[in-house]
Amino acid sequence: MIILVIIGIVPSVAVEKGIVSSYEDRAVSLRSFNVKNQCDILCNLLVSENYFQSPQDASVEGELSLFSNIYSGRILIVNEDYEIVFDTYDLDRGKLFISEEVVQCFRGKETGQYDERNRYIEIVIPIQSTDGSSKDILGVMLVSCSTDEIAASIDILEQKGMLLLVIITILVLVFGYVLSSILMKPFARVTKAIEDITDGYLDENISVPDYTETELITDAFNKMLGRVKTLDESRQEFVSNVSHELKTPLASMKVLADSLNMQENAPLEMYQEFMQDITQEIDRENKIITDLLSLVKLDKKAADLNIEMVNINDLLELILKRLKPIAARRQIELILDSFRPVNAEIDEVKVTLAFSNLVENAIKYNVEGGWVRVSLNADHKYFYVTVADSGIGIPEDSLDHVFERFYRVDKSHSREIGGTGLGLSITRSAILTHHGAIKVYSKENEGTTFSVRIPFTYIE
Ligand code: ADP
Repeated sequence: MIILVIIGIVPSVAVEKGIVSSYEDRAVSLRSFNVKNQCDILCNLLVSENYFQSPQDASVEGELSLFSNIYSGRILIVNEDYEIVFDTYDLDRGKLFISEEVVQCFRGKETGQYDERNRYIEIVIPIQSTDGSSKDILGVMLVSCSTDEIAASIDILEQKGMLLLVIITILVLVFGYVLSSILMKPFARVTKAIEDITDGYLDENISVPDYTETELITDAFNKMLGRVKTLDESRQEFVSNVSHELKTPLASMKVLADSLNMQENAPLEMYQEFMQDITQEIDRENKIITDLLSLVKLDKKAADLNIEMVNINDLLELILKRLKPIAARRQIELILDSFRPVNAEIDEVKVTLAFSNLVENAIKYNVEGGWVRVSLNADHKYFYVTVADSGIGIPEDSLDHVFERFYRVDKSHSREIGGTGLGLSITRSAILTHHGAIKVYSKENEGTTFSVRIPFTYIE
């Protein structure tokens, strides 16, 4: 509305001022032109009547007085001796009159000026004899005539202009108010729709197709809403998965404890056996909670990373050494191919956790007597680690899901070998916080390869 008012009123004021001032210029120059013409005629009269030889010629002075009456002005005639020989007001006749303009005029320079403050035009012109070729300056005529009439017209013009301006201002204000409220309505609707969604449920998209702009805003908002919904759904799913996973070991423990309680005089062996099972379930519960905590920690801001320069060859060697006993139980061979020495800025604990999970999986989901090959290579920017195994592989339709939290291809088998479904999500989070990437390739019953890429230098 402010812009509309400025656009409407400022030009109107400028136009009004422009019209008044150009009218004034035009009127003054027209008046000056007329006066000058009359003066020329009077000068010719003065010369032809030989006024300077015989001053106070009644008919000439009558003409001069008539002229000054018509233009409500005053005429002074100054002769060669700078003496005033005629004054319409008869005040200064006989006095000397030496001024800059008069002196200049005797040198042949006419002057004409408009005194805006006192509202009069002053013209000083030479009276030249025109006989023969000589052009002597016999005297100077000074004419000052009032411009009150012009000022009165300007006043009227200004009053009318002011009235017009007031009308325009009222119209612009009304028009501006109406137009701005009409134009802004769709935006108000967008705000209202967004507020409604903020207060209520996330299940509705908003649509305000009135303008291209509102459509773009609502489209962008709907997209954002879509992401929020997905996040909300995944949060809900996560919570329900967590509850389910945490409840399963508890349910088993309860069944075991109940069956012991129900049996009177249960033998000691039975107690020992059931207690072992309960301990296993407690271990499992513990593992799920530990994994969940690692995941939550990784989801936090990257500021928690403890970045330092680490030798990756040593790191991988240590991981394999630690896991060797587990692999040996199933006669699985662990091989490390280090193609070059690699030092990188990483958080050692988190990257160790990531690679340990990959190698652990490669052992867990392997076949008796199989192999796991870990290789390390690098280029100018990244180092690459691949963990390949000769294991059971992952079905094609599961490949996209293995990094999801709690996802397991074969739930019962995974549970048997102690999987929580959180290992790969932990690995992926750890690698992503280092601005790296992870990919998986697999063929069922042939084996799986995870390839990881991490930059040497950590960029926040
Ligand atoms: P888990 O704790 O069950 O191992 P992960 O997140 O580590 O959970 O892995 C998710 C699922 O991906 C596993 O349950 C398993 O089915 C599959 N998987 C992971 N690594 C391999 C592998 N090297 N070979 C075959 N399947 C794998």
